[in-house]
Amino acid sequence: MSQYLRDGVLDLDDFELPSKQRREKGRVIIIECVQEIPCNPCSEICPRNAITIKGDITNIPQVDFEKCNGCGICIANCPGLAIFSVNESLGQEMAEVGIPYEFKPLPETGDSVDLIDRAGQVVGTGTVKRVLQPKSYDRTALIYLMVPRELSLQIRFFRKSLKSGNKKKS
Ligand code: SF4
Ligand code: SF4
Repeated sequence: MSQYLRDGVLDLDDFELPSKQRREKGRVIIIECVQEIPCNPCSEICPRNAITIKGDITNIPQVDFEKCNGCGICIANCPGLAIFSVNESLGQEMAEVGIPYEFKPLPETGDSVDLIDRAGQVVGTGTVKRVLQPKSYDRTALIYLMVPRELSLQIRFFRKSLKSGNKKKS
């Protein structure tokens, strides 16, 4: 039995990753959808046909990482919040991670955040680079974070850091 079925925490070998070479070319998605459920908005909405669900709708989606340009549309349209993006083309120190977000209030560009991994542990600090929530995202926001590069494949959530000068909203 896979470990995630025991503890609910995915490992990097539970899903397909884009190669280091592809990640260093620019933004690309990672799909962490590992259970066979009847769902396919990701493959229907991709304008580049980069996601396929072969055969039965319950099959696991597969990504052609070379076709994906990291536009993010599938991230916001995944009802399971199971799609993320990574971009390791931004230098040796930092990387960008894209995260779907359905909480209020939204963070703001420039906010300092605590970075949280798949197990719910705070593992570092980062910065909000961009907040996107166009009407076509149907209320799901897409948050781009700048994170230490060594954490680029680990970060799956964040919380505002009150230690680093963010103003507390009342
Ligand atoms: S990020 Fe854009 S191009 Fe890449 S798989 Fe998703 S919808 Fe397709
Ligand atoms: S839309 Fe999300 S939950 Fe549905 S198959 Fe695609 S990745 Fe999985």
